[in-house]
Amino acid sequence: MIEDKNQHRTPLSDLGEFGLIDHLTRNFKVKQPSTVKGIGDDAAVLNFKEHKIVVSTDLLVEGVHFDLSYMPLKHLGYKAVVVNLSDVYAMNAQATQVTVSIAVSNRFSLEALEALYAGIETAAKIYNVDVVGGDTTSSTTGLLISVTAIGQVDHDNEVYRNGAKPNNLLVVSGDLGGAYMGLQILEREKEVYKVNPNNQPDLDAYSYVIERQLKPEARQDIIRLLKDLDVRPTAMIDISDGLSSEILHICKQSQVGCDLYENKIPLDPQVIATCEEFDIDSTTVALNGGEDYELLFTISQEDYPKIKANPSLTVIGYIKEKGEGIHLVTRAETKIELKAQGWKNFNV
Ligand code: ADP
Ligand code: MG
Repeated sequence: MIEDKNQHRTPLSDLGEFGLIDHLTRNFKVKQPSTVKGIGDDAAVLNFKEHKIVVSTDLLVEGVHFDLSYMPLKHLGYKAVVVNLSDVYAMNAQATQVTVSIAVSNRFSLEALEALYAGIETAAKIYNVDVVGGDTTSSTTGLLISVTAIGQVDHDNEVYRNGAKPNNLLVVSGDLGGAYMGLQILEREKEVYKVNPNNQPDLDAYSYVIERQLKPEARQDIIRLLKDLDVRPTAMIDISDGLSSEILHICKQSQVGCDLYENKIPLDPQVIATCEEFDIDSTTVALNGGEDYELLFTISQEDYPKIKANPSLTVIGYIKEKGEGIHLVTRAETKIELKAQGWKNFNV
């Protein structure tokens, strides 16, 4: 969390734009067969032969989407790539390439951008995607990062938000609410640090939730798993804004209703403990927290035997006819209409 004041700082002006691009991208190697030409020409050239292509872009703005006082630049680079890959996987596609565009002010040194690119490189390696281009420009104040992710999917295998059918099962990967509680811890420590910079916090008890915030993973493994299990979801979305909002997206686009069971929502014990400490309801956090980057999807009942033994997948509800509405069935078995609240809207 603390910036090392003795670190070497090479001003970006020492390199110039082209020197900087060359320096930052020198380690990127082409791995995907679909990449014909990567970095270095006016445009990348890709050849997907018989596949369908999916494309997704995100823009991250300092002070709005990330706070560099607790987000190390390496993690930021990693996260910027991962959150885009998550959108590609949510189409049931495999990610193959990314482009990365940055706008930086002279507040950033070469070493800072090297850290950012180390994170980008790590993510590209782990998720097996090629960095095939981008753009580099200056900004007057903060840092902006835009990542575009490209992926491929066999014809007719892409999964949209609009295919859920009544009687389908609603399934989620992993567990929810961790990223939001990690953010609460980091915000709290930032305030403590402001008051007493010598205070060295012991964050061991929060390692999982902090990691969920600072180093999220996209569920490429779930896309592979579904393929291996021969399960094709009828609808799918990634959980970036909280379970509530994503369920509402699927239901609205699929023209269906839904019953979500509170007692089925998967929560890590550390999320439950941190919620107790902050006196926040863990269901509220799972519903509205966001940034978990898990996959939410619907499957036909026939596919249930294929997924039921898998510890990474939890059935959390049922798709209903549209007229039956969209509800949370609480532990006390009362039905509450589900609404998207999105803490994020209040936080920015
Ligand atoms: P142009 O003038 O055509 O925009 P640039 O000089 O900006 O070309 O880019 C040269 C090459 O470097 C291109 O292949 C471009 O995609 C790539 N590139 C530029 N900036 C970045 C970046 N931040 N990350 C990765 N690749 C980049
Ligand atoms: Mg350019």
